[in-house]
Amino acid sequence: MSDGPNTIRMGATDRGIRAAVALLRRGGTVAFPTETVYGLGADARVERAVAGIYRAKGRPARNPLIVHVADAAAADALIDLPEAGRAAGAAFWPGPLTLVAPVRDGAGIAPICRAGAPTLAVRVPAAPLALDLLRAFGGPLAAPSANVSGKVSPTSADHVMEELTGRIDGVIDGGDCAVGLESTILGFEDGRPVLLRPGGVTVEALEAALGPVAAAGIVEDAAPSAPGQMTSHYAPGAALRLGAEAPRLGEAWLGFGPDPARGSAIARNLSPDGSLEEAAFNLFAHLRLLDDLLGGRGTIAVAAIPARGLGRAINDRLARAAAPR
Ligand code: AMP
Ligand code: MG
Repeated sequence: MSDGPNTIRMGATDRGIRAAVALLRRGGTVAFPTETVYGLGADARVERAVAGIYRAKGRPARNPLIVHVADAAAADALIDLPEAGRAAGAAFWPGPLTLVAPVRDGAGIAPICRAGAPTLAVRVPAAPLALDLLRAFGGPLAAPSANVSGKVSPTSADHVMEELTGRIDGVIDGGDCAVGLESTILGFEDGRPVLLRPGGVTVEALEAALGPVAAAGIVEDAAPSAPGQMTSHYAPGAALRLGAEAPRLGEAWLGFGPDPARGSAIARNLSPDGSLEEAAFNLFAHLRLLDDLLGGRGTIAVAAIPARGLGRAINDRLARAAAPR
């Protein structure tokens, strides 16, 4: 049913949630807001339903999905977490943290969610609407970001509709996402935490709760096609020039911090006050807007972002958006 011409827009109401649950029970795909970005949900237990996510996004089959559940007990039924993983769940769930661990026998999750891996990625989201939906649905929802694969993640229902109208069954409009960046993904090696992707929970917060967290190089989609090359992801049509002091002639400008007029007609500021939280909230919406104003061509010059707190996740996304296509 995911290929019909119509995508139903539902309100963030009990009625909207009931309509979304009805679509999901029929194996449909429904986008919904979480505190990170909008997710494209489907019943994680049903192969055909999850296949609809891959089809709608044009997502490579080798890229596994995050399964969303309503609480830590439901997560525990799906994956075998080491001690440090339980501690992480206790400290940060519900919230923007995804934990990756071996899937349990009989978890009942469609193998397609794991894309061949023996591990499964699980998250308990914090957005009340996402939790309401999960409880009303009464089961796990596979939900990657609700955008065309490789493009900028959506932080509003309008972003979802712009790309996926006619390709998905519905979207629940719950306004803007509070965090605006995807979840932090944490895996484990010999029981010790390994950062797989920086995101909405900062490394500083993780380390305060768990002790040292090792960094891993793998994330998003595929191995780099050549040494030193990052996989293109989160990418607008325009090129990005990072760590810029000022825009060059014809470039759009994405500033951060106190930023007097920079001489570009097309300019936005992630946070005039230099708040990394505000910058995370604005990042994807500003990239989309500047890209639209440039007609998906040309270059967006981006100011340097401090490499601390949420700045690490922001810089990770910007680097992937700027990577060779
Ligand atoms: P998205 O939901 O679009 O933010 O993408 C989910 C990301 O989660 C993927 O791109 C992977 O990097 C990561 N992921 C999901 N499952 C696994 C897994 N089993 N092992 C490692 N990474 C995973
Ligand atoms: Mg994504």
